Amino acid sequence: KQLRVALMGLGSYATRVAEAMKDCKMATLTGAISGTPSKLDTWKQKYNIPEKNTYNYDTVSKIKDNPDIDLVYITTPNSLHYKHVLQIAAAGKHVLCEKPVADNAKQTREMIAACKKAGVKFYIGYRMHFEPHTRELIRMRESGELGKIMHVNNYMGFKSGDPNQWRLKKALAGGGAMMDVGIYALNGARYATGEEPIWVTAQETKNDPVKFKEVDETIMFQLGFPSGVVASCGTTYAFNNYERLYVVGEKGFVELSPAFSYGPIKGRTHLGPMNQPVITHQTLQMDGIADIILNNKPDPNVSGEEGLKDMIVVDAVYESIRKGGAKIMLAG
Ligand code: NAD
Repeated sequence: KQLRVALMGLGSYATRVAEAMKDCKMATLTGAISGTPSKLDTWKQKYNIPEKNTYNYDTVSKIKDNPDIDLVYITTPNSLHYKHVLQIAAAGKHVLCEKPVADNAKQTREMIAACKKAGVKFYIGYRMHFEPHTRELIRMRESGELGKIMHVNNYMGFKSGDPNQWRLKKALAGGGAMMDVGIYALNGARYATGEEPIWVTAQETKNDPVKFKEVDETIMFQLGFPSGVVASCGTTYAFNNYERLYVVGEKGFVELSPAFSYGPIKGRTHLGPMNQPVITHQTLQMDGIADIILNNKPDPNVSGEEGLKDMIVVDAVYESIRKGGAKIMLAG
């Protein structure tokens, strides 16, 4: 048996997922949802999707009556995730939603509650949790091979292009670099330590206040953990070559760079270079999600609750910036 997946929002990431799913063993693409009829025509042909499994945003609630779709993967712009997750949950289908899960923690709590009420599973597209170098980092930390974790230094960013894209519009993106890729540095700090932050400080700078009039461009943020570890993190839309995860313990370290993009992920530890297999992340993710759902397995920290934990920190990052860098305490 395979998990039958429909993609919602047929943009560039959805295309990447559809291509990667050609190599999946446990997941298969059976449906598509788009507001653009010509895209649906292309997808029907390219990915062998039957007409009866295609929907637009007005007809999507009818997916409820379609026995050939188990899960909807939401790859629409960030600020639409909230509405779309509620719609799909109400239609009784499992949901996989891209990062960032929503605009804030409040929306995320409602999304989790809606999925629970509908009896459907809710996962976030945190693909790094299926990636072999990242899995090895987590294994080394959990096994104690790194010793007591002392420090984390993560960053992720890139130079943003087209000034007219939705990513620079607050109403569709929710925020800027922090929401889009800062979330990798933040999520990475949580899996590098295995802890939840208890305080947050953050500082924002803007090289181009005109282009980034609506959303954040460059943010440095610090996360304090109960053990005393401080993660020093950064994110930007202003420059390239900014991507690394570094966790150092009393007995060893892991450095991944690149750490979060599509790969190949490269890594080294105190023992030497890492040589984990290089496999397309989205193939691993979709087979992984299928295995979790079909075989009732525990998920590797990609649930809606994990999305909520990140959004609580994102809210605190923005709150700290609004308050001039104030230390924001989180419920421990
Ligand atoms: P994109 O612009 O290429 O695609 C977005 C799609 O949503 C388009 O097909 C667009 O037509 C559609 N859409 C539906 N309603 C829309 C509206 N009201 N306004 C604008 N577009 C609308 O963007 P993308 O790069 O594919 O990103 C989509 C989502 O995937 C984002 O949430 C992003 O954060 C996430 N993403 C995740 C990864 C990852 O590695 N996990 C990588 C890229 C993007």
